[in-house]
Amino acid sequence: MMEQYHALKAQAGECLLFYRMGDFFELFFDDAKVAAGVLDIALTSRGESGGESVPMCGVPVHAADGYLARLIRAGHRVAIAEQVETPDEAKARAKAEGKPSSKVLVAREIIRFVTAGTLTEDALLEPRRANRLAAVCEVRGSVGIAACDISTGRLELEECGPDGLATALSRLGAREIVAPEDWEPAPADATLRPPSDFASERGRQRLQELHQVATLDAFGDFGRAMLAAAGGLLAYLEHAGRGTMPFLLPPTINATDATMAIDEASRTSLEITATQSGERAGSLLGTVDRCVTSAGARLLAEDLSAPLARKTEIEARLALVRFFHEDPILRGDVRLALRAIPDVARALARLVADRGSPRDLGQVRDGLAQARDLHGSLSRLPDRPALLDTLLPDLTGHGALVDELSRALVPSPPTERQSGGYIASGYDHALDALRETSGNARRAIAAMEARYRQETGISALKIKHNGVLGYFIEVPARHGDALMKPDSGFTHRQTMANAVRFNSVHLHEEASRIAEAGGHALAAEEAHFEALVEAVVTAREAIARTADALARIDVAAALAERAAEGDWCAPVIEDAPCLEIVGGRHPVVEAALTKAGERFVPNDCVLNLPDGGLHRAQALPEQGRTGATSRLWLIGGPNMGGKSTFLRANALIVLLAQAGSYVPATSARIGLVDRLFSRVGASDNLARGRSTFMVEMVETATILAQATTRSFVILDEVGRGTSTYDGLALAWAVAEAIHEKNRSRCLFATHYHELARLAESCDALSLHHVRAREWRGDLVLLHEVAEGPADRSYGLAVAKLAGVPGAVIDRASTILAKLEKGREETGGLASGLGDLPLFSAAAQAQQEECDTLRDRLSGLDIDALSPREALDLLYDLKREA
Ligand code: ADP
Repeated sequence: MMEQYHALKAQAGECLLFYRMGDFFELFFDDAKVAAGVLDIALTSRGESGGESVPMCGVPVHAADGYLARLIRAGHRVAIAEQVETPDEAKARAKAEGKPSSKVLVAREIIRFVTAGTLTEDALLEPRRANRLAAVCEVRGSVGIAACDISTGRLELEECGPDGLATALSRLGAREIVAPEDWEPAPADATLRPPSDFASERGRQRLQELHQVATLDAFGDFGRAMLAAAGGLLAYLEHAGRGTMPFLLPPTINATDATMAIDEASRTSLEITATQSGERAGSLLGTVDRCVTSAGARLLAEDLSAPLARKTEIEARLALVRFFHEDPILRGDVRLALRAIPDVARALARLVADRGSPRDLGQVRDGLAQARDLHGSLSRLPDRPALLDTLLPDLTGHGALVDELSRALVPSPPTERQSGGYIASGYDHALDALRETSGNARRAIAAMEARYRQETGISALKIKHNGVLGYFIEVPARHGDALMKPDSGFTHRQTMANAVRFNSVHLHEEASRIAEAGGHALAAEEAHFEALVEAVVTAREAIARTADALARIDVAAALAERAAEGDWCAPVIEDAPCLEIVGGRHPVVEAALTKAGERFVPNDCVLNLPDGGLHRAQALPEQGRTGATSRLWLIGGPNMGGKSTFLRANALIVLLAQAGSYVPATSARIGLVDRLFSRVGASDNLARGRSTFMVEMVETATILAQATTRSFVILDEVGRGTSTYDGLALAWAVAEAIHEKNRSRCLFATHYHELARLAESCDALSLHHVRAREWRGDLVLLHEVAEGPADRSYGLAVAKLAGVPGAVIDRASTILAKLEKGREETGGLASGLGDLPLFSAAAQAQQEECDTLRDRLSGLDIDALSPREALDLLYDLKREA
C-alpha cells in the first residue's frame, strides 16, 4: 500500500494527498501533520516505514467538503486519490493476473486537484463572491492575463504593460494565480507551471478546441499575450481536473481603459470590498449591498472593484437604477420575484462540469421559469431604459427546456441521485410501470405480514428489511421453533438473541420483484438525468446570459433600494476633469453613526470648476481665489476633526458614481476619473513587515509616476512616518509635484501648518480646514470643512479629549508656549522657504542645464579630437558640473 501511496504522492507534488480508504480519506507523513494542525483533528500513526511509525490522520468521506474548505482557506491545495475499482474487481483482476487474491490492492488514482481557484462545490464556495483563477505571463513586453470563474464559466482576457499587472490582479481579486516558472516578475504566491503551457499559438488552439470553432474572430481580437495566458490557464485547468475541463464560456476582452484603475494600496485603504482586517461587513460593499440574490451580490462586488471609465456605459447603468428608484412599488415587486430565484449560474457550472445533481437541474428549471415570468411583467412597462431593453431578451427563450424540466422533475429534486425518486410520475410510462410494480410488491408484502400473523397466530410477527438480508420475516425467539418445522413454509435465515428470522417463497418472489423493478427504475432515472443534463449543457451560453441579466437587474434594483434608504442622489457624469459634490457623506461612517444615534455632518467638495460651480463658494479676499476653481485642496485642522473621513467620502462617491450607483450626497457632478489613488501616511501598517515609512514612500512614488490630469488623488497625512523636517519637506514636495506635474484633482490632508504657504506659489491650490471650537475649555469638533487655513493646531485639546491627565496637559502647555516663542523668533520650521523656486521652476533650471550639456556633446566630432583635446574637454565638463 505504501508503494502505491508514494507513487500517488509523487504525482500530487506539493498538494496534500487525500488517500481514499473505505469511508475515509487518509493523510500520511507530513501531509498528516499539516492537516491535523489546520483541521484540529487527532494525529495518529499506522504501521512503520523505515523503522519509524507513520503519522496519519483522516476525515470521513461524507464530511470531506467541510474539511477541504478549511484546508483551501488555509492556503493549501489537495489532490484527491479515489478508489477506481471495487474490491471484487480487484480480486478478479488479481485472479486474471494469477496473483493470490488476499494480497491484492484496490487501484487508486488522483481524480482531481482541489485548489482555491478550481472549486465548483457549493459547500466550498462563498455564495456572494466570485471565485477567480488567473493565469499571467509576458510576451514581448506585454503582460497577458486570463481570468476565469469556473463556478459561473466566465472567462476574461486582458493585456497590460508590466506596470499594470499588480493593479489588474487586485481588480480581479483572483483566489489563485498561475504563472510560468521561468518568469521572474511572477507574483510571489503564484502556482508555477511549465513555460511550455504558456505558448500563444497553443493557447489559441486550446480555445478553439474548447469552443469547437475554427477561428476566434467572432469572440474578439486577442493579443498574443492574452492567448499565451489563456493557454496557461486552460492547461492548468486540464491538469487540475485530470483531463476533465470545467465550464467555460467564450472569452471576453477586458479593455484596460474601460475601467477606472485602482491599485492595491488604494483598494485596501478605501476598504472597497473588504475592511483592512479582511471582512466584508464594514466595507463599502458591505454597506451598499442590498442584493437579494447571490449572483447579484457577486456582480455588485465586481462593479465596485472595477468602476467604469466611459460615460455612456455609466449613464446606461444609472438610468436603470433611476427606473427602479422612481417606482418603489415596481422595485418591491421585482425584488420579491428575484428573491425566489436560485443561483442558476453556479448550478449550471456544476452540471456542465459533470458534478451536478437533480437539485441543480431543479434550480435551472426554477430560475429560468422565474426569469420568464419577470420578463412578462417587465416587458409590459412603459418608458423602459435602454439597458433594460437589451437585458429583456436574455430573460426568455428557454420555453421548451423549462417545459421539459418541469414535466420531468419532481418539485424539489434531491441533491443525491443514487437513490432516484427525482423523475416525476407521468413523465415516462415505463418508469411509472416499474414504480407501480414495486409499489404493488410493497403492498403485497404488507398484506403478507397480516396474513402470516393470522396463519401462525403470532401477533408479534413482522416483515422487515435491512441492507444485508433484504426482506425477512422476524418473530420473537420463543416463537422460533414453531416456524422451524419443515412444513411451515418458512426457511430459517438467522437466529438472534431475542428473535429468529425467516424467509418464505412468496416473500422472496415479491422482494425480487421490488429489487428488479427498483434497479430498472434507477437505471431509467439515470438515463433521463443524463438526457436532461445534456439539454441544459447544450443551452449553456443562453442560460448563462439569463443568469447574468437577472444579476444585473438585481444590482440595479438593490442600488435603487440603497439610494432610497439613504436619501442618495443620481450623479451627473461629465467629461471635463471637474468635481462638484454638495452635501457629501461617507456611507460607511454615516451608517455607523446613524446606528449609534448620531448625525453625520455633510460636506461639499468642489474642484476645478472655472465658473465656481452651482454652489459658488465664498471667495477669499486675500487670495482672490476660491476652493471651487482650484484643483488641489490642502486640508488642515485638528486630529479627529474629520479630515480622513472627508477625503474618503469623496473618493467613495466618485467610485460609486462610476460604478453606476447613486451617491450619498445632495447633488454630485463627477468629471470622469481614469485612476483613483488613496494613500494614508504610515502609522499603523506595522503588520506588513516593511518599514512603514518605506511603504508610504513607495506608494507615494507610484502616484507621482501614474496620476494624470484625469485622476483623483487623496493623500492623508503623507510624510507622517518620519521626522518633522523630513516629513514636512516631503509633504511639501509631493503636494507641489501633484499640483505642477500630475495636475490631478487632489485632496491633501495634513497637520503641517507650514504647508499653507504653498498657496502663495501654487495657483490651483486652495486652503481648507475642518472646523473646531473651544467651548468652556473643551474642544468641540464640528466635522465641518471650511475654506481658509487652519487657525491653530488643537493637539493639546485633542489629547485632553482623549483623557490624557490634566497634569500632563498643563506641562505640555508650558512646553508649547516656549516652543511657540522660539518659533516667533526664528520664523518657524518653514522659514526661508519663501524664496524657494517652485518645483517646476527648479526642475526647469535643471532641465536647461542638461539641454546645454546635450547640445555640446552632440555637436562634438569625436573622431576629429586628439587624445589631449578629449582629456581637456573632460576636465572642462567636470569643472562646470
Ligand atoms: P482626522 O482624519 O481629522 O483625524 P477622522 O476623519 O478620522 O479625523 O474622523 C474622526 C472621527 O470623527 C470619525 O471616526 C467619525 O466618528 C467622526 N467624524 C468624521 N467626520 C464626520 C462627519 N462629517 N460627521 C460626523 N462625524 C464625523
